[in-house]
Amino acid sequence: MKSKNARQEIALERIWRLFELAEQEFESCPERSKRYIELARRIGSRNKATIPAELKKRYCKKCGAFLVKGKNAEMREEEKWVEITCRECGFRFKKRKSLKVG
Ligand SMILES: [Zn+2]
Repeated sequence: MKSKNARQEIALERIWRLFELAEQEFESCPERSKRYIELARRIGSRNKATIPAELKKRYCKKCGAFLVKGKNAEMREEEKWVEITCRECGFRFKKRKSLKVG
């Protein structure tokens, strides 16, 4: 088998897709984008697939809102961290900046 767990891989693909949809729907229907995040998180936990670090910066762990900088979220960049504040519920969390370029 090429992958350690095909089921997790499929789950991850679906998670990425749902985040894409959440982004697309955010402007016109924030409630729907919230629903996509909820779905993505459920798929993740059901299949024991961890949501990628890049995506963890894109939603609020507390209220589940899809976060867009300057819209419903503030992102304050520090040297190694990004401090994210969800304007929907006021939850604040920090994420390590990824070292990848792009
Ligand atoms: Zn929130």
